Amino acid sequence: MARAGWTLVSKGHGPWYFIPDWDDYVDPDYDFINDISKIRGWEHQAYAHELLGGPVSDGLLVSRAVIEGSKARQQRIQRHGVHGMLRVPDSFPVMGDCGAFDYIGEKEPRYTTADVFDYYTRHGFDFGVSVDHLIPKDTHPDRQYRYDVTLRNAEEFIHLWNREKPDWVPVGAVQGWDPESYAAAARRVHEMGYPLIGLGGLVRTSTARILDIIQAVHSEVPDARLHLFGVARENMFRDLKQNGVFSVDSAAPLRKAWLSSTDNYLTADGTSYCAIRVPYARGARGPMRSLDPQDLERAETLEKQALEALRAYDRGEDKLPYLLEIIKEYEKLYSPKVSRTEHYRRTLEDMPWKKCTCAICQKHGIEVVIFRGNNRNRRRGFHNTKTFYERWQALRDDAN
Ligand SMILES: [Zn+2]
Repeated sequence: MARAGWTLVSKGHGPWYFIPDWDDYVDPDYDFINDISKIRGWEHQAYAHELLGGPVSDGLLVSRAVIEGSKARQQRIQRHGVHGMLRVPDSFPVMGDCGAFDYIGEKEPRYTTADVFDYYTRHGFDFGVSVDHLIPKDTHPDRQYRYDVTLRNAEEFIHLWNREKPDWVPVGAVQGWDPESYAAAARRVHEMGYPLIGLGGLVRTSTARILDIIQAVHSEVPDARLHLFGVARENMFRDLKQNGVFSVDSAAPLRKAWLSSTDNYLTADGTSYCAIRVPYARGARGPMRSLDPQDLERAETLEKQALEALRAYDRGEDKLPYLLEIIKEYEKLYSPKVSRTEHYRRTLEDMPWKKCTCAICQKHGIEVVIFRGNNRNRRRGFHNTKTFYERWQALRDDAN
């Protein structure tokens, strides 16, 4: 029986969008008013596709290094398989890789080819990537060694695959340091017979440089299908499409919800808004830990007032100047040097969450744009992912 990977490969017409998973789930019954989560454990948590009523990508990417980062995750994948662990149907494409970034500082890759090969088969992956070793920068003393290890592993991996013929799609990983080295490696891997070639090490590379690389690869092996690890940029869409890129993966839309300084909430027209920071006043690691007791008490009062005023504003009861005044007062305590008030003003004036039809914004309203804790921040990330995916699909529809 053909697995989801082969179905996707035979469909053509990418680039398909994959999301790398890092246990991205939230409490579906989170109590936003009292900030309480009553549930514990993976079984009771909800993934983005569960909260949003359908997939928010064409596939998921699961790194072995992430799985092995926790005992609970290892048990989950052993017990439920990779689709069961992610709670997606067997027909939903899941790609596995090693997560080479996790062992970037080690001399050798952490895993052997035979071991990784069995792991993909055992847990029911739809795509399996050969064992690669990242080249941290183009002047790295071991760059040739890492390049060769990656190619040797690809060779060993496809041999095993040809012998065992498992029902997942083999992906030959390629590393390099300039367009020529990537192109030469891609040619080697293509000649090994891989249906898909994965280009790694590009996450922190500029768009212009990535374009040079994929153009070089595409002119070297015009009929190869490529996957770009960690890179899904809308402004590159046309170039990806024209240069044989079959699929991409990126968690950037998700993670910008809490990692970006001011672009935390993505809208359907592609603009971003700053989420309103209302940090916890009490908490061992929070921004308020160095306040003296008097200020801490004041922080707690302002925190409560800010949350109440935000909700009242969402209901149309409070006026914007009053709300901004409270937010500004609170900001002076947790962020005395950097003010985002003008960004907050834009978010609150435009109220982008009211225009969004996703289940999260519909259900939780202004809570989605409050920057505070996993249950709000990751939900905003889910909203971003869905929004990004819809924009990506529109680009794809236009191109096809
Ligand atoms: Zn939304």
